Formats: sequence, C-alpha cells, structure tokens
Amino acid sequence: MVINTKDKKVVVTSALPYANGELHLGHIVSTYLPSDIFTRYCKLRGYDVVHICATDDFGTPILIRAEQEKKTPENYVDYWNKKDLKDFSDLGIKFDLFYKTSSKENVDLTQDFFIKLKKNGHLEKRTIKQSYCDNDKKFLPDRYVIGVCPYCGSQDQYSDGCEKCGQTFQPGEIKEAKCAICGTPPIQRKSEHFFFKLSQFSDSLKEWLENNKNLQDEVKNYVLSWIKDGLRDWDITRDLHWGIPIPVSEAEGKVFYGWFDNHLCYISSTISYFTRNDINGKEFWNSAEIYHFIGKDIVYHHYLFLPAMRMGVNMEYKLPDHIPTRGHLMLHGNKFSKSRGWYVGLRKYLDNFPADYLRYYLATITPFSQSDVNFDWNDFQARINNELVANIGNFIHRTLNFISSRHQGEVPTPEEYDKMDLEFETELLNITGKVNKYLEKNEFDRALKNIIDFSANCNRYFQHREPWKGGKGSKTCLYLSVNAVKTLAILLDPYLSFSIEPLWRQLNIKVTRKWNLASTIDIAPGHNIGKPKILFRKLENSEIQKQKDKLAKANPRVKLSEKELLTRNSTKKKTMTEASFDDFTRLDFRIGRVVKANYLEGSEKLLKVQVNIGKEKCQAIAGLAEHYSPEDLINQLVAVIVNLQPRKIFGEVSEVMLLAAVDGSKVSLLNPDKEVSEGSKVT
Ligand SMILES: [Zn+2]
Ligand SMILES: [Zn+2]
Repeated sequence: MVINTKDKKVVVTSALPYANGELHLGHIVSTYLPSDIFTRYCKLRGYDVVHICATDDFGTPILIRAEQEKKTPENYVDYWNKKDLKDFSDLGIKFDLFYKTSSKENVDLTQDFFIKLKKNGHLEKRTIKQSYCDNDKKFLPDRYVIGVCPYCGSQDQYSDGCEKCGQTFQPGEIKEAKCAICGTPPIQRKSEHFFFKLSQFSDSLKEWLENNKNLQDEVKNYVLSWIKDGLRDWDITRDLHWGIPIPVSEAEGKVFYGWFDNHLCYISSTISYFTRNDINGKEFWNSAEIYHFIGKDIVYHHYLFLPAMRMGVNMEYKLPDHIPTRGHLMLHGNKFSKSRGWYVGLRKYLDNFPADYLRYYLATITPFSQSDVNFDWNDFQARINNELVANIGNFIHRTLNFISSRHQGEVPTPEEYDKMDLEFETELLNITGKVNKYLEKNEFDRALKNIIDFSANCNRYFQHREPWKGGKGSKTCLYLSVNAVKTLAILLDPYLSFSIEPLWRQLNIKVTRKWNLASTIDIAPGHNIGKPKILFRKLENSEIQKQKDKLAKANPRVKLSEKELLTRNSTKKKTMTEASFDDFTRLDFRIGRVVKANYLEGSEKLLKVQVNIGKEKCQAIAGLAEHYSPEDLINQLVAVIVNLQPRKIFGEVSEVMLLAAVDGSKVSLLNPDKEVSEGSKVT
C-alpha cells in the first residue's frame, strides 16, 4: 500500500455492516457505493484518502444466531467478516482496511474512552430494573426483548429502538415486552448500569449542528428537533458476555452497548491502518477532512452519540466534517423484506449480472438525500441498455473501432476546426469542471447525469460528422472523439470499477489515470490505440424476466404479480417510445391560477404552491425554489396536470403537477399567451 504525501487528507468511513447476515442492495445504495465512488474520486484527484470499514461484531442478535448455529460468537463473526469483504470486493468496493469492532485496537480505544468520559464526569451509575427471563434464567438486554414501540406503536420492535419510526429508547420503555427466545413476558430485576449523560451535550451539539454547513439540512432539522424535545441520558451497559468488557471491577460480567463501541471503530481502524504503515494515525485523523457515510436509519447515533462522545474526551479525536446520509432502497415500490423474499441479495445479483451494471444503475437513481430509492428490474434494464450500452458504450466502441479499421489503429491528424469542432472541443474542455462540482458536493447522480449527457453529445457530433463517408472534417472528428473517449474513461472511473481498466488498455495510454487529465486533449495524432473490444453487453428481456419471476414467486401477495409486472413493463415501454392517443387523453391538463406560494420548510428546492383550477384549489409541491420566488408566482396562469396520483413530498401532499420548460439550468413555467379562465382544458 502506498501512502502519498499530498496536502489534502481525507478519511472516508462506511457504516459498519452487522456481522450477522448477507449484504443486500439496500446497504449498498445508502452507504457503500456512495462511499466507494467518493473514495475513488478522491484518489483520482490525488488526495491522500483512506477508506475504512469493519464488521460490527458484538450484540445480542449475533449471540443468539451463533448459539443457534452451535458456533462460538468469535467464529461466527469471523465468517461474516470474510464473506462481507469478498462480496464487497466482487462489487468493486475497496477499503484500505476492513477491520472489526472486536479487534484489540478497538477494545483498547473503547475502554480508554470510557475511562476518560468517567473521569470527565460524563458518566453516572444508576440502578435500573433489567428484564430477566425466569424461564431462560438470564438477563435480557435490548434485543432479547421485543415488543411494541412506545412512540409509533409498531409491533415486534427491539427494546433499544424502533426500525419503523427511527426513535431510540431505553430498555424498559418498550410496551408488551416478551422474551425473544421463549416468548415469556420478562420479570424485572435490579442491575447497576452506567449512563452516558447525553443531555449535558445538548448545547454543544446544537451549536455544532447549526454551524456545520456541510451537514444536510433535511437531516439536521429533525436532529435539532430531537435536541429541542430534550435528549435522554443513555444506558451504555449490557448484562451480557459478548461485547467489550467495561473496565472497572464493579461492572464485572457486563459489557458495553454496541453503539458505544462500534463508531469508535472508525477511529481505531484508521489509526491501526496507519500504524501498520508507520504513520501517526491520530495525527492523520485530526488533520483530515472526515466523512462518515451512513443510511438514514442510524442518524441518531451518528449525529448525537458519536459527536457527543468525542466532545466528552475533549476532542482528542476530531468530529466529522460530513455525514452523507441516504435513504432506504425499495424494490418495485415495496419495502425490502428478506423474510418475505422481497429482496435482492448482493451475491445473487453478482451471480447473474456484471458488477458495474449495478454500480451504474444504483448511482443513477440514488440522490444525495434521505429520500428512498426504488430498484426496478425494468428500469435497470432500460438504463443499462439505453444509457450504458447504446449511449456510452456505443460512442466508445464506434470511435475506437473506426480508428482501428479505417486508420490502422493510428489516431489521425486533425484538419482545421470549424464551428462544430470548436463547440465540441469547448464542451470536452468544460465537462470535467461541471462533473467535479457535483462530485465535491456528493451529488453523484447529478455528476453522472452530466457525463451521460456529454456522451450523448459525443454521439451526436460523431453522427453529424459522418466520418464513415471520409469527407472533410472526418479526421478531426476521430481525433477529438478519441480524446473524448479518454475523458469518459476518467470521468466514469469512480462509478465503474471493472470496465475502465480494459478501456484504458484499448486506448493504449501508459500513464496512470488522473482527474486532471480528464479534460485535456493529449492523445496526439499518430498515437496507436489498442485492440477495440465491446465493453458493455445488452441485457436481454429473458434475463430480466427471470428475476421478476423470482420476485413474483417469492411473494405473490406483494402488489406486483407476474402478470402485473409484465403489463407494467409493456406500458412503460410504450410511454418511453411512443404514447398512444389513449395514453395522452388519460392525462388531464388544465390551466390554473397560482393563489398562494411559500417556501417549503426544510427544503432549498421546493415551493408549496396553491393553484385554483376552476372551483377546486389544489396543492403542488414543485421544485421551483431555485428559479422563482413565491411572489413571482402569485397570480400567474400555469399549465398543470391534475389527475396524477397524489404524492407525499416532505410530508406535504402534492396533488397536481406544474409544467415547465427545462433548458439546462433554466426553468420556465408554461403560461397561456392569452388570458383564459381557470380550469380551462389543455388539449
Ligand atoms: Zn416506532
Ligand atoms: Zn425466555
């Protein structure tokens, strides 16, 4: 491993997978793909970056499963640690160190934190009543007890937090508790526990959240509301033997709650990585820009517990600068559920399709926000075939193939540029700057969209120039196009883990890929390219159908039956290529007048707009805030679609959709050019 000595230091961590089961696409979409794209980007930029992850080895579910499988917990977590690492690397997700929370380094750091927090007065001993199963003769910490969430009423939640509403709570707060092993309602016994006085940090946390402009507002807002409601002190002790021992004699036989030690593993593993390379890891940590990539289910832990604990040891270890937080993955519009078979396992995917297709597809559909993302096999096929194969792959292959077959693999000397060449050259020179802007901001989907558009323009240029006719400008076209292929190879590198190396060989470029080479025109006339080979293959209907059949079989009760999947597929295709007159008449377009408009709280992009459509007043949540102020809109006559299914956006219902023309970053609402009455039909 080479450590470079560049000025900008970056630590990227990915939330720790629990060493208790197979990785599925949900984990990939919220956390590991974004962190990997970002790390690869940082490496191309030449930043001194490390990507750190580990398995979360402790806790009751692991103990329960290990007991069921008649394994020691050590062997059990070791199995999952190896398996996860293999699955990650087969998806092209690379870590500089993939370690474990049960490592000696992490045990030491966790105990050190405890001693310092205790010394600094942030811990308190309290006697609590602890659930105890008289049938199993043991204390039942957190996950050994299940019941009804005291906040939202969801059934079958663990006693330390609700997976439905995201609240965390203390053991004892859960309603209708029962033992997870035998189902008997537990009895209460006294036990002495240590509490972390989280409430002491309310002001510092609030200040940190408010001043850190890098954190997503949408997340920050509800974390601030939790602080406002009052933070509860937090029980960090468990009556259990599988965990990090609490290092004081009075707590013998007790261990730390997993959320006390697992995020410390970001620090202990980073330091360990550097120590192995003879570098002071603590110094690196404290001088680096720190990114913790997470899914929205662990916001509480990362925005409150984690910073508070670092504050509690006098900031011996720097706080995160960024906590990129993304949403859950849905599958054909329904929540992933392993138990109901409504899910796609990573290994199963990799057995059937190329890793890069998944990376590409997920990157296109995952925004930098905590909104949920929908995986859809039809959409997957369409994106791969239309974008990766027919757009990007096509441009790359036709350029290289043309140079190979018509110019014996030698890049031709350009002729004098005309207007079209100059425009294309300018685009090539500017594209990296555009993409960069989004990558720096963690908006990987938007960066990729710019790359896809660039590639479409490359195709258009090639098509206009018609180099196959060998006329004027053909050589210039091939010269600029082969340079554009190189641009694509570098810009796509963070997204595609396996396809770019072979492309680089096809281009026959000897230097290492670097970001600052992306928008340069440095493949010179006379350069010999390698042998062209098709990079991406089309996905056949039959392969996709097989996956859909599997889902339909796994759970016929879920909305999408096999038949529905098929019809959905065909209507989708129809709307993508041509719409029937029926399709058109199904949509009800009207003219309405804006009577009220406000900014939507918690969003920089959305406006809440009331539109009068004849007698009815309807609400639209529209992405117009960057283009119109609410006052601009009042009294405007606008075109709307009134019969779309209402959608909930930011907790507000959007009943109608405003129509606007979009030209790059310019957005212009459609207004009738004469005064017409509200509710007029648009045909
Ligand atoms: Zn709940
Ligand atoms: Zn029991």
